[in-house]
Amino acid sequence: MIRVEKTPNPATGEIERSVGIDLGLKDFAATSDARVFGLERHYRRLEAKLGKAQRARKKTRVRALHAKIKNSRKDRLHKLSTALVKEYGAIFIGNVNASALARTRMAKSVLDAGWSLFRTMLQYKGDCAGVWFEEVDERYSTQTCGCCNRRTGPKGREGLGIREWACLECGAYHQRDINAAVSILAAGRRRLAEGIPVLSAPCAAAAG
Ligand SMILES: [Zn+2]
Repeated sequence: MIRVEKTPNPATGEIERSVGIDLGLKDFAATSDARVFGLERHYRRLEAKLGKAQRARKKTRVRALHAKIKNSRKDRLHKLSTALVKEYGAIFIGNVNASALARTRMAKSVLDAGWSLFRTMLQYKGDCAGVWFEEVDERYSTQTCGCCNRRTGPKGREGLGIREWACLECGAYHQRDINAAVSILAAGRRRLAEGIPVLSAPCAAAAG
């Protein structure tokens, strides 16, 4: 396996074609360039079948469906991560964990497993392809307006159901998850910009 070095533009510290990704409950992922990746309908059908089998206490069928869902999700995540790594030079993703969002323990573990698997895939595929990959703190990504950078968006648990909103300060109209992805990208770019002086510090010390 060949490992390619990640190379930000030395003049700007920026990497061409960077993207922010917001992971969510309603759709699997939204990007800062306004793309939304849902779970396939096929997968939802399997979930419905699983519910039915669970209620009927058909153990073998439940096990088989669990395996099928797991494989189907993994396959989907592989395809998506491969496509993203091919397309972008830098990928920033929010450090969301499901405990803040999901209601049941089952839902939490399923979400967390999917999200961490996806991050792992992006990390190792990114490493191979020379794509910068970084997890960023997404604490205020939903609340922060992607246009004016002020925290005017939906807040807390009550705000979870709000899918679209208008910024009271600048008037920009946002699709919730895409705006969050834009904020994540901005946070990633700041991290990258902060990282450059640290990287060049040993040279400066040698020169002094
Ligand atoms: Zn605004």
